Amino acid sequence: MRYLDGWAITVGLEVHIQLLTKSKLFSGASTAYGGIPNTQVSYIDLAMPGTLPVLNEKAVEMAVLFGLSIGASIAPEAIFARKHYFYPDLPKGYQISQHHHPIVGAGGSLMISTENGKTKRIQITRAHLEEDAGKSLHGACQTEDATRLTGIDLNRAGVPLLEIVTEPELCSAQEAVSFLKTLHQLVRYLKICDGNMQEGSFRCDANVSVRPEGETVLGIRSELKNLNSFKYVEDAILVEAARQIEAITAGEILRPETRTFDPARQKTLRLREKEAEADYRYIPDPDLCPVRLSPELISRITGTMPELPDAKKTRFQKQYQLTDYDIGLLITSREQAAYFEAVVAKEIDPKLAANWINGELAAALNESKLEIEESPIAPEKFADLLRRVANETISRGTAKTIFEHLWNGLKDIDSLIEQEGLGQLNDDEAIRRIIQSVLKDHPEQLKAYRQGREKLFGFFVGKVMQRSNNRCHPVKLNQLLIQQIKTSTLSSENESG
Ligand code: ADP
Ligand code: MG
Repeated sequence: MRYLDGWAITVGLEVHIQLLTKSKLFSGASTAYGGIPNTQVSYIDLAMPGTLPVLNEKAVEMAVLFGLSIGASIAPEAIFARKHYFYPDLPKGYQISQHHHPIVGAGGSLMISTENGKTKRIQITRAHLEEDAGKSLHGACQTEDATRLTGIDLNRAGVPLLEIVTEPELCSAQEAVSFLKTLHQLVRYLKICDGNMQEGSFRCDANVSVRPEGETVLGIRSELKNLNSFKYVEDAILVEAARQIEAITAGEILRPETRTFDPARQKTLRLREKEAEADYRYIPDPDLCPVRLSPELISRITGTMPELPDAKKTRFQKQYQLTDYDIGLLITSREQAAYFEAVVAKEIDPKLAANWINGELAAALNESKLEIEESPIAPEKFADLLRRVANETISRGTAKTIFEHLWNGLKDIDSLIEQEGLGQLNDDEAIRRIIQSVLKDHPEQLKAYRQGREKLFGFFVGKVMQRSNNRCHPVKLNQLLIQQIKTSTLSSENESG
């Protein structure tokens, strides 16, 4: 991009993932999304005097699992702190977070792939547990004289978040997106977050700065708040970098700011000067004990670690000899990979299985907005279909038809093949008869072909296939068609007649 020439971009991300616990971080209220406002709120979430928070053990375990998965150190003692600020959706006047003693410490990292097809290690500074705030619903309430007011929904107040902070090591919008996609896949593998970006379960703040190329000191950063799609992250970083370059070039001195991205106008807008640490008046929360994790607990959590995407990729490369492209699609989710392996376990060629899962099945799932674990075709049934493709009982065209029947609930493939006469046509004589009839019906084309319009070969293939309901064995069809065209007397008969 021209305007970036001569400038280096730096990005550091703060990603908030909503942990998949049933209840909130410090209360028993439900975390389910989309409830009627203020129906999932306990006295604790309302900050009633005299109530005491109780830490949700599951949230702690999920945070530890994450820390272990990225190779980070787990704090021997994690301490919750009160972070003070005033906002209508924060009843206590402070958010319980971890500040000096986060549960996941330094040492963790994630490998991302970069534009030039290489990989790059991005270090993760820390990850800490904190509670979410409520939501302000602007214009949601109406008074008798039709004045629109802002309503507060506290269903989200107290929902557990894990905030994951990276070092400022990402050097482009593309790298930032690549990091987020890698992280998104990881937290879904770990089953600690559903990754739903529309519902805000996975959202990020991007810190962006620019500096002249060759300069070692990082520039002044702006923090872009609450970006909730990969596309917005990419656009926001590019737009913000361009704005900073323009400002610096015009002689402006930048100051650290908190900004928001307006996707419709493709602009970032200033919200406020960036808060300094002192503004938050952090203090350890006196109502919560320090969290100490026993080695037994850590080793129990380690024991629940699933095979992670990188390891799965390496194993798939060795075990199935597929292209990186195929593998990338197959390991998108654990469920996708498990489906593939269940099909292959039925002695189906891995390449054939990959083609059909990444092709036909993925398209059908996508169209119906279903996840693979909701597929109406179980892996065993899918294997039954592919086995008949592999042993040439049916043609690929017929297989697609049967796929549709299976999708709509067909149980018995064999009886369908028999009833509808869908078996592949292997019999030379039968194929020859169809070819003869097609040539007979298209004398003009046959003549043209013989005069050198070789492209018409495909036309004949298509017609024969159509007439056979896609059942002709394709290789045989080709061979026989060549023979028939050579030997057929049809055209001379036609010419004389
Ligand atoms: P704060 O809560 O004040 O935003 P944090 O330390 O939690 O501070 O987060 C800082 C984030 O900003 C990190 O992701 C870090 O990598 C990033 N960052 C720090 N300095 C820069 C910079 N000069 N340019 C871009 N990103 C930066
Ligand atoms: Mg920040």
